[in-house]
Amino acid sequence: MKDIKEYTRKELGEWFKKRKIKPFRAIQIFKWLYIHQANSFDEMTDISKDMRLMLKQNFFIPRLKLENLETSIDGTEKLLFKLRDNKYIESVIIPGKNRHTLCISSQVGCAQKCKFCLTAKTGLQRNLTCSEIISQISEARQIFIKKNKDKDKDKKKTISNIVFMGMGEPLANYANVIKSIAIITDGDYGMKISPRRVTVSTSGFVPQIKKLGVNTNVNLAISLNATEDKTRSMLMPINKKYPIKNLLQVCSEFNIKPRNKITFEYILIKNINDTNKDAEKLVKMLSPIKAKVNLIPFNEHEKSNFKQSSSSRISQFFKILLDKNITAIIRKSKGADISAACGQLKGKFEIKQ
Ligand code: SAH
Repeated sequence: MKDIKEYTRKELGEWFKKRKIKPFRAIQIFKWLYIHQANSFDEMTDISKDMRLMLKQNFFIPRLKLENLETSIDGTEKLLFKLRDNKYIESVIIPGKNRHTLCISSQVGCAQKCKFCLTAKTGLQRNLTCSEIISQISEARQIFIKKNKDKDKDKKKTISNIVFMGMGEPLANYANVIKSIAIITDGDYGMKISPRRVTVSTSGFVPQIKKLGVNTNVNLAISLNATEDKTRSMLMPINKKYPIKNLLQVCSEFNIKPRNKITFEYILIKNINDTNKDAEKLVKMLSPIKAKVNLIPFNEHEKSNFKQSSSSRISQFFKILLDKNITAIIRKSKGADISAACGQLKGKFEIKQ
């Protein structure tokens, strides 16, 4: 038995072709799976009974088990899913005014050991499969629709933006992430999410960034977090392998669409990376690149001694960027009260006392 969500539309078409079945069946099935969110082959009423039986004998349609759902006071929702091997991952729905974003995980845990991040503390358990990556979207869409069915038309809009900013390093699970992007952005029959609305965030896997630009049209976000190699290597060990210079080089060559920019995320940590000199250096570093900066005030948590920069320091840093015409925002993390904010996902089910 095979997991049907491991197949792109093209691969499923080839599977049918090999068995002398018309490959357009793949289109029908994709519509059922990703537009109508079908959870069984029996729901696929425009497919004959015999064909449905054949499909059932060869494939299964997997589900992720929603183990817990927490809602923040700001509307952010954290979904805890249990996988088939009893491991846990988290996804976060971030509702917006016009569009709603889903932050998805790409690995169970993470191997990158970034000093500031809670997910790092569990280490890497395993990569997620393509099916597990896209199922987070299917499940979240179903939850979203159910919850908003009484709302007016605008508020009911489905999840339209995807960010690979949950647990894990997406570019360390390159093949499965790329396959999932093919299904997510399958414009006609898949999840119908434009690549312009998909962002892959990376700690800086230089060779894979290059490949991502060649193989997809999605947006790129870089977790930069420092302007000196010494500081960045202390915060993010990946920097020892791919130092800032190499990272910026690959970014400057990255295939960006007109009017688009690479996002650089920069956590502001008190006395570590938040001086005026850092801000000035950041301006210089990014000047050859079509860049925008997301400043993220560090989210404090129990596994780190780092402190958030003061609000006056954050404003000062921000002002230096703006004065030098760098597009920047201060991204107030959402969902901090339910540990759904950046760097707070750990995929653990905790019983509240
Ligand atoms: N591994 C990928 C995807 C994870 S994205 C990456 O590094 O980009 C998670 C984002 O949250 C990163 O931009 C990271 O810098 C940020 N982050 C992690 N821990 C944080 C914390 N404690 N406070 C604020 N942001 C944090």
